[in-house]
Amino acid sequence: MDTDAVRARLLRRREELQGRASRASADLRHETDPLSADFAEQVTQRESDEVLSAISATARGELEQIRSALRRLAEGHYTVCAVCGAPIEPGRLEAVPYTDRCRACASVEPGAPRR
Ligand SMILES: [Zn+2]
Repeated sequence: MDTDAVRARLLRRREELQGRASRASADLRHETDPLSADFAEQVTQRESDEVLSAISATARGELEQIRSALRRLAEGHYTVCAVCGAPIEPGRLEAVPYTDRCRACASVEPGAPRR
């Protein structure tokens, strides 16, 4: 498995999502009145929260998963299912590079009893 390529792919995707977040938050700021210096200061202080709130919960969730995939990659258990410990199918990692579950575990409803 080419971990360098996977890492590069995850980093690219992370940059894309973060770029989308800052653009979305710049749009939000543009819609509000930027004239007050106090307001501008508040915006700077709140910037990181605002950047993240400007993107959808789905994108935030994906960023979180990418972060943890990069950690698993660094720790050397990127291809191991976090639930059952079996190797994750290469095709599945190809399709969903930030997943931490094998196909069988991913298809189980969260919180559903395991059989
Ligand atoms: Zn599994």
